[in-house]
Amino acid sequence: MRRLDGAGERGDRPSHRGVNLFVLGMSPLAFASGDPRWCSYRQALARGWQVRRGEKATPVYFYKPIEITDKTSESEGKTRRVPILRAFSVFHASQIDGIAALAPADATKTVVERVEDAEIILKASGVPVWIGGDRAFYNPAGDFIQLPPDEAFESPALRASVALHELSHASGHPSRLNRDLSGKFGSSAYSREELRAELSSLLVGSEIGLPTDIPNHASYVRSWLDVLKQDKREVFHAAADAQRIADYILGFHPDYAERPAESADDGDDDTSSVVAPLAA
Ligand SMILES: [Zn+2]
Repeated sequence: MRRLDGAGERGDRPSHRGVNLFVLGMSPLAFASGDPRWCSYRQALARGWQVRRGEKATPVYFYKPIEITDKTSESEGKTRRVPILRAFSVFHASQIDGIAALAPADATKTVVERVEDAEIILKASGVPVWIGGDRAFYNPAGDFIQLPPDEAFESPALRASVALHELSHASGHPSRLNRDLSGKFGSSAYSREELRAELSSLLVGSEIGLPTDIPNHASYVRSWLDVLKQDKREVFHAAADAQRIADYILGFHPDYAERPAESADDGDDDTSSVVAPLAA
């Protein structure tokens, strides 16, 4: 989850880690505004901002492992780790007065440099890119990305973000992160993979500072919601996969590769409740 105070690890850049970002990223507020910043009521207050009267909070859920002592079996006295689903309430930047306008993810890089960063990632990934036609897609059987000619894109930045979306799909190839890419358009497997690619694009885009393709996102939200209605835990599986994809993609660029020492941002100083213990 991106913290409003920018309290990320590397300098002032917020970490892209944490399941919360995904849940929040799916909120229509984030898609409509392109602003991924959220914080709790208390965090806003502490920074001299004010959540506007009548604004509705968005619940955030995440798993946190806790140690419990086993009293049930012969292994009595031993501890084991149990994931607990926790929740807290946050508000979007657009619901808060006094907050500064959104600054680019890395203010030291120009748009041209960010587009170049995407190009560096694409090249380093080794996935072939074919130019032509009028559609962008990843072909799992041939293991290549197809992109329309440059002129077909509104801007180089938009082309870069589309290319990174297709690279998210390419990460699912058996030789890479190995996901199920067999879903036909309109199927639930297709929606699941699309959800992963979109969420990872959101993460990679906000890390590099590239725009996200908002009309495209909106059209997918429907099919995601259908998948999520069938399986409430799907969002957590998708979030974990998307995190893996984003780490994998960002790992191709030295400026964005995660350092192993970094830990997840659980940022739970405003945790309001333990919802329910869940089996591992
Ligand atoms: Zn896609």
